[in-house]
This record gives sequence, structure tokens and C-alpha cells, in this order.
Amino acid sequence: MRRVQVIRSRKTWDVVIVGSGAGGGMAAKVLTEAGAEVLMLEAGPKFDTARDSKMFAWPYDSPRRGMAVPARQFGEFDAGWGGWTLEGEPYTSAPGSQFDWFRTRMLGGRTNHWGRISLRFGPDDFRRKSLDGLGDDWPTTYDDLKPYYDEVDKLVGVFGSVENLPNEPDGIYQPPPRPRCYELLVKQAADRLKITCIPNRLSILTRPLNGRPACHYCGQCGRGCATHSNFSSPSVLLPPALKTGRLTIVTDAMAREITTDATGLATGVSYVDKKTGRDTHVQARVVVLAASACESARILLNSKSSTFPRGLANGSGTVGKYLTDTTGTAVVGFIPRLMSGVAHNEDGAGGAHLYMPWWLDNRKLDFPRGYHIEFYGGRGMPRFGFLGNIEQLTGIEGSGRPPGAAGYGKQLKDDYRRYYGATIGFSGRGEMVPNADTFCEIDPSVVDRWGIPVLRFHFKWTDCEYKQVKHMQETFRGLIQELGGTPLSPMPPKEHGYGIEAGGRIIHELGVTRMGNDPGSSVLNKNCQAHEVKNLFVADGGPFVSQADKNPTWTILALSMRTAQYIAEQRKTGTV
Ligand SMILES: Cc1cc2nc3c(=O)[nH]c(=O)nc-3n(C[C@H](O)[C@H](O)[C@H](O)COP(=O)(O)OP(=O)(O)OC[C@H]3O[C@@H](n4cnc5c(N)ncnc54)[C@H](O)[C@@H]3O)c2cc1C
Ligand code: SF4
Repeated sequence: MRRVQVIRSRKTWDVVIVGSGAGGGMAAKVLTEAGAEVLMLEAGPKFDTARDSKMFAWPYDSPRRGMAVPARQFGEFDAGWGGWTLEGEPYTSAPGSQFDWFRTRMLGGRTNHWGRISLRFGPDDFRRKSLDGLGDDWPTTYDDLKPYYDEVDKLVGVFGSVENLPNEPDGIYQPPPRPRCYELLVKQAADRLKITCIPNRLSILTRPLNGRPACHYCGQCGRGCATHSNFSSPSVLLPPALKTGRLTIVTDAMAREITTDATGLATGVSYVDKKTGRDTHVQARVVVLAASACESARILLNSKSSTFPRGLANGSGTVGKYLTDTTGTAVVGFIPRLMSGVAHNEDGAGGAHLYMPWWLDNRKLDFPRGYHIEFYGGRGMPRFGFLGNIEQLTGIEGSGRPPGAAGYGKQLKDDYRRYYGATIGFSGRGEMVPNADTFCEIDPSVVDRWGIPVLRFHFKWTDCEYKQVKHMQETFRGLIQELGGTPLSPMPPKEHGYGIEAGGRIIHELGVTRMGNDPGSSVLNKNCQAHEVKNLFVADGGPFVSQADKNPTWTILALSMRTAQYIAEQRKTGTV
């Protein structure tokens, strides 16, 4: 690590939290309400959801019509400031590997534009090794986490329906919105194919909660909700923490390393003030890392000392190991019966109103674990680009467009009216099993613009994931056929991995500081406390032992709440 002149702050905080997203926001709320003086370091700038959201912008408000720009790679109006690349902040992939790392740099992190699919992991998801011999069991169970999931539901608000499905625990739900027209058609097709299709579980309010109004169905959640009707850390977690008067937030503060004393305890965090480029050190009795899984691993690996020569809390050598992402692939189908639809408002809540949880029994399949299905379509406000894949319809059966057909002027407008809303897309989101070839480490020769060594990724899908994705492709094609439609792309062959997305693309990277009972094979104990440094905790996706066929954020929130309550108890007894 390069030598720098460091500005030292005299105050000792009870807790320093690195990162203000799902994990950091929850830890700040719980700890400040429990009486701790908390300093939060956030690498991105301030973001005020009510002021900065582009929820009400029209495409014509921009000369780019909302198209993606380098600083907002999900679209110019999207509330995600960042993307797969960040200027001055590279990462590398080992030869033969591809891992695409998505980073949002702003107060609240990725919660400002996430998909809000808010699923609990099920009892089986915590004990996969016991069930199929692959990976590892968690040192904690669903029953341990259930009270925290319940609290998250009540605090944040989530809509859904009680279904009593195996390994798909129900939560405490607000009523779900009614399905859109195309969603009803998909539900009918899924029922005929015996694929479970139920109301989605999204953290969007359909009833007022804790002073936040219900959703007004503008369908633009990805732009950040100016009325705070969906979940983001700046809308739901940071305001109550700030209200205690015990939370101080420093934005544009890029954490570089955690410092330790001669006894091996954490003493604080060094960070770069991005506005001045100066290094600053803040002292704390407890450090909570919540910078997102891989960034937290990076900070630990960069925190080397004579006591921790392999990086902090890395005596086991497992920091960076057990990296996973969700598997994903997609198929879009043209559905002729949706052509020339009657124009009506089906904006709804931001996201699908229905989804399909995993519905099969692995004992009868050639791959482990499962996936859920998300789908999309309809006639929402058009974005930049071609409407409803119209450019792909030439020569497709039922479209009435002969091969090579194109158009402009009146013909093009008529075509848009005829075809817009006549495609439906299906995406699979499945569980990857951790493998020894997939991990991150410090690149020995690349640093970022502040001289901080960057991560190098190694990533490999195995047959488990390829076979699962093949099953997804076949299922989506079956659904499109059942809807009377035609897929807009051919079945991807084995040589192309059956269309599996590159690692990192589904933005559910987990593991890398996993928890476990054995300090020789894990970084954290079951309270997300470092085995080797008792006043160091991780509160993001790093502690996960495995993925699931569910999105991870509801579990990050529940774990962070539990970790923060544990810290508060330990502080009371003077243990940390
Ligand atoms: C488009 C999109 C859709 C998604 N949809 C879903 C979904 O539907 N359901 C679901 O469960 N999950 C979804 N996710 C994933 C979800 O956003 C993440 O799981 C969740 O936000 C992770 O929380 P976190 O606290 O670990 O990290 P983040 O929310 O990313 O927060 C980390 C914060 O730490 C800051 N930081 C990073 N490095 C440093 C540093 N060195 N110093 C100081 N601060 C630092 C970052 O700027 C950021 O603000 C989606 C993500 C994206 C991008
Ligand atoms: S759809 Fe609802 S929750 Fe989403 S941005 Fe619009 S009002 Fe807010």
C-alpha cells in the first residue's frame, strides 16, 4: 500500500459503517436507535430521493430520450449512478474469465434503482449441503432469521400473497396489485403447464406505512420514488437514523483500509476524501463493512499489517472465495393475439405484478437447485430504442411482416400501434453452486485513481449452471408456444452456454466473506462477526454461504438487522 499523509480525526465513534445501501442503511438505523454514535462513510455523492428522482421526466425532456449514458448505465433517468464501469475505478478479470461487476456510487447504493423483488430464502436454502451434498450449510437457519424477516416486512412494507408453498416462505404482506392484461395471459398459460404463477413480492407500498404514502402506479421505480413509496435506503432507513441525531454521513468518502492495533482489534477506517484527494483516518470502537460484498472483501484484503499479512480477518485465506452470482438467461416471444391491443394505462407498480417461483423437484432433474421466472411486456411508457422489438418481427409467423420488411412514415406509425405490447420476455434467475475456480483477489499490478489496489476476478460456470439454464430456455420456449407465440431468437447451443449471462450480470454477487462455524474455512461467525477481529462485522451480501433461487436483498436486510442488534447487545455488556 502506498505511503500517504493522513489527516487524523480525534473523535472516537461508537461505530463506523462503510456503505449506505441495503446493509449499511439497516445497520445505521438499528444502531443509532439503540443509542450508538455512528459515522457512515459513503463513496458516492449525496442523493435526495424527493429532490433528485427523475420519476416524472418525459423522454422528450432529454435530447437523448433517456438513453443510457456512461454515468447511468440503466438509462439517463435511472436512479443508479454508476454501472459496469466507473471512471478511474477499474477491476480486472483473470485470463479466460469474465466477471462484470456492477457498482452504484451514491448515497443508498443500488437500493435506489434495484428491482424491489423482496423474497425470503426458504428453510432448505440454509442447508443445501445436507440436502444434496454440494456447497455448505449455513451456520444459521430459517427459523433463526424468521423474526428479522418479519420485522423487515413490517418496517419496509412489501406486497404479496400467502401461498403456503414449500421452501417459499410467506411474509407479512400488503395486498398485491391486480395483474396486467398480458400477465393474466401468462398466468393462464403457466397454469396449463403446471408452472406455479403467483402475485409478485415487491417492496412497494399498496397501503400507506409509517408516514409513507401508497404507490400511485407510475411504473417508474427504477428512477427512484420521489414519494418514498418503494424501498430504498435513503427513503426508509436513513431518515429514522438521522432523526436520532446520532448519525453523521460523510459522502464522497472512499474507504481504503481498516486500521488495527497491536492486539489485532480494529481501530477505525482510512478513507480518501474524493473531493480533495486527501487521506483521512476516523477512529471507532466497532467497524461495520457494508460496501457491497466484493468491495468489502477488497477493503479487507487491502488492510494488511504484520498481524494480518494476508489481509484483515483472512487467516483462513477465504476472503474473496466462494463468490457466486445468480444464473440468468432470457427469451422474448412475439404473441400475435396481443397485436392491435386497445390502448389503456397498465403502468402499475414498478415491476411485474406476477412471478413464478421454483416449482419442480430436483430429484427428477439433471441439475441441482432451482430458479424463478420473472417476465415483462405490455404497453408502458416507451423507452429509447425500438418499440416492442418491432425490428425483429420481419418474417416471424403471425406478424404479417414479410422477411426484410421495413417501414417509415405512416406505415411505421401504424406498425407501432399494431405491434407495441405484442411481445413478452421471460428471464430466469437461478442458484449457482460455489466452486473453487470462482473468486476475487487483489490484482498485484493495478490500482485505482487513488492508488488503492483493485480486485481481479476469476469466474467459471459449471455443468450445474449450464444444465439449469438449458432448462430455463426450454421452459420459456414452452411458455411462449403455449401463448400461441414465436420466440424471437433460436435456442442457444451448448457451445454458447445455452445463453447464460456472464458472471456478475444479474448483480447478485454474494459470498466472499462467508460465515461459518469453522474459523479455518470461513471469515465470519454466525453473527457476521469476524472470527479473528471481534469488533469487525460485515453487513452486506458477503456473509452468504450460498445463493438461492431468490433475489438476496431481503436476506441482506434481515441479516444486517440481526447483526446490528447483536452489536448493540455486545456494546451493552461491554464486549465490543
Ligand atoms: C438494477 C438492479 C436490480 C436489482 N434488483 C434486485 C431485486 O429485484 N431484488 C433483490 O433482492 N436485489 C436486487 N438487486 C441487488 C440489490 O441492489 C443488492 O443486493 C443490494 O443493494 C446490496 O446491498 P449492499 O448494501 O450490499 O450494497 P449496495 O446497495 O450496493 O450499497 C453499497 C454502498 O457502498 C458504497 N461503497 C462501495 N465501496 C465503498 C468504499 N470503498 N467506501 C465507502 N463506500 C463504499 C457504494 O457507493 C454503495 O452506496 C438489484 C440490483 C440492481 C443494480
Ligand atoms: S410505481 Fe409507485 S413506488 Fe414506483 S416510483 Fe411510481 S409511485 Fe413510486
